[in-house]
Formats: sequence, structure tokens, C-alpha cells
Amino acid sequence: PGTESTRLIALAEDYSAHNYHPLPIVVAEAHGAWMTDVEGRRYLDMLAGYSALNFGHGNARLIDAAKRQLDRVTLTSRAFHNDRFAPFCEQLAELAGMEMVLVMNTGAEAVETAVKTARKWGYEVKGVPDGRARIIVAAGNFHGRTTTIVSFSTDEEARRHFGPYTPGFDVVPYGDAAALRAAITDDTVAVLLEPIQGEAGVLVPPPGYLAEVRRVTAERDVLFIADEIQSGLGRTGRTFACEHEGVVPDMYILGKALGGGILPISAVVSSRAVLGVFAPGEHGSTFGGNPLACAVGLEVLEILRSGEFQQRSADLGDHLHRELATLVGHSVTAVRGRGLWAGVDVDPAHGTARAVSQALLDRGVLVKDTHGQTIRIAPPLVISKDDLEWSLDQLRAVLA
Ligand code: PLP
Repeated sequence: PGTESTRLIALAEDYSAHNYHPLPIVVAEAHGAWMTDVEGRRYLDMLAGYSALNFGHGNARLIDAAKRQLDRVTLTSRAFHNDRFAPFCEQLAELAGMEMVLVMNTGAEAVETAVKTARKWGYEVKGVPDGRARIIVAAGNFHGRTTTIVSFSTDEEARRHFGPYTPGFDVVPYGDAAALRAAITDDTVAVLLEPIQGEAGVLVPPPGYLAEVRRVTAERDVLFIADEIQSGLGRTGRTFACEHEGVVPDMYILGKALGGGILPISAVVSSRAVLGVFAPGEHGSTFGGNPLACAVGLEVLEILRSGEFQQRSADLGDHLHRELATLVGHSVTAVRGRGLWAGVDVDPAHGTARAVSQALLDRGVLVKDTHGQTIRIAPPLVISKDDLEWSLDQLRAVLA
């Protein structure tokens, strides 16, 4: 890193909690798929804010929507209505083929909302005795960082010394429909899954798994909750990753790209029968559904309706996966993913994923390691084919 980068990294080290281990780059500007650091060096962003930047940095339509709204009204709280809120909810429900929306801010908040919704639905609609509701989750899950969410994480790093933990969760292996079927009891209110596990290393479940989850949950009157915070909104080549298996869950959890990489907005999207369980005073958030976030979200929904980015992700993703497949056996032990989203397992004989990420950074390509040996690739969906090619050249060079 240059002098100014070094200074700012040291300052962050001194004054910010060490809850992250960022790569040593300090970004000052970004446009499209490219970021520029404080020394003026350019880097191709192959992470896209963990899929929050699906539509690219500084997307003109989204920035414009935000600027227009900044001049009108930015926050009302939900004590009053605002004129961006209802259209946003209507259009999000429509895009998802659902009926109702509950808007929050961050992904973790939306997951918490889904957990509360499922429990309340379990007691008031399904008839589970109060205090007994159970939710089935998958090993290797990542749903966020709140105390309840880390309570059902299987990652020791995420959990250690954050107890006592919230009870009521059962963990089953990811991708094993038989184990999930066996874990369902009369007290089970929901199954909460990522259709593709992102943080775990872009793990795609076996074909037919999500369809089987849909079948058993419907049979047993259990809600199927799909956490599409990272997989949804174009990342996999479809609006929702569940679509690849022709599956419609009872509830989507959305976040990240819903705010266009500009601001946080998240949502739970479901039926009236499910989200109808809430009465005034039972849940909420000061910033949830604020007009600025809804204005940006409305533009995101409009962009998604055209299907352009889903198609880009599908087309460029095919190319990406064809190219990555040729690396297996050459310092790479496995690749997985869908659309412009991939997990690449680095052969330990070659080095760690962190070392590969650092070497790519030195060549102007930004990716992020996860779980020791995996690098995660998730560029903004606006990336050009030439830039994607160039990043693959850099990856080949680093692995050679
Ligand atoms: N759920 C999934 C699948 C995620 O990938 C993430 C974030 O990476 C979250 C939930 C949490 O979202 P947030 O970081 O906005 O709280």
C-alpha cells in the first residue's frame, strides 16, 4: 500500500474494533465494476460488496433516484405514511409473486423479522403451543450476526463467547432432504435456508433438494423461508435462486442489492396469511421503509423487471464457469456456483485463499477469501466480458 493507504489502515487499526480483516486497499472512488484507491490505483471489483452492488458502483439510474429523493424527504418514521413506501411494497410483492412485505434495513434484521414472523404464525395460525416453536436451519449457514442468529450458526468463530444462546433451532446437514424430513416435529414452524450458501463458499445444493424441501414443508404445514439476501436479485442469473429449481418458498428474505449498494434496505416478502400476523406495536424499525431507501428500492425493482441484469449474469456466468472449470486440477480443487457467482477452492499445496486474494490484489483484482481455502467471486453484474476475461487471466497467472 502507498503512504496515504498505510496511514489510513493504521488509523483504522487504532480506532476501529478489529471485527474484520480487510485486504490492504483503501478505496476512494468507484464506478461500474472498478474501484480507485487513495493513491489513484485502479482495481476490478470482483466481490461487489458481497452482492450488494449487483447493478454496479455509481449506477446512474440509482444515484439519480437517490438524489431526487434527497431533495424531497428522507425520513418520516413509520409514525406517518410516506409516498414512496406503499408503491415499493406493492412492486416488491409483485416482483416476488407474493402478497405482503415487511421492510427493515439490514439483512440480519430481516432474518430476525422472518424468525419472529414464523414463530408468531406457528402459535396463532398453525396452533403450536406457546413457547415451543422450533425452526430448522442448515449446517454451514450464514444469516447474519445478531445474538439470535449466531445462536444457530455452526461457525465457532461466529458464536464463541456470545452466549447464552437463543433456543428453538435445530440444525441439519445442508443438502440432505432426508435429514430435514426426519427433523420436522409437530412444533416445527419453519425451515430457514439459503438456496445457495454464500458465506460457506458458494455451496450449491444437490439437484432436487430445494424441490424436496418445498414438498416436505408443504406436507407438514411448515413455512419454507428462503434467505435470498445474497443469492437473490439477479446474482445467479434469475431474480431468485429458488427459480432454478422451479421452487416458490413461503417467504423470501431480501437485502443487499435491494438498496442498490447505496443504502441498506431489507425485506421479508410473503403471503397475507403469514405476514398478516403482525399488529401495530409488535415489530418495527425507525428507518425501516424510509422514503429515501424506498425510492432507491423502487428503481432497483424497475431495473430488475427488465430482466437485463439477470440475463447478463446468466450469460457471463456461463462463460465464467466454463473458464473456471478448466482450472480444476491446476492449483484448484473445486469450483461451484451459478451465474456471476463462484466459489473457487484453492489447493492447499498452492497456498491459502488469503494469499491468492493478496496476489490478485497486487494485480488489480479484488476478491475475498472465505474459510481458509475458498475465494469468492461475485463481480457487479455490469462487468464487461473483456474485464471478466482480464480478471480470469490474472487468476490463471496467480495460480500458475
Ligand atoms: N443472510 C445472508 C444469506 C447473507 O449473505 C448475509 C450477509 O452476508 C446476511 C443474511 C446478513 O446481512 P447483513 O450483513 O446486511 O446483516
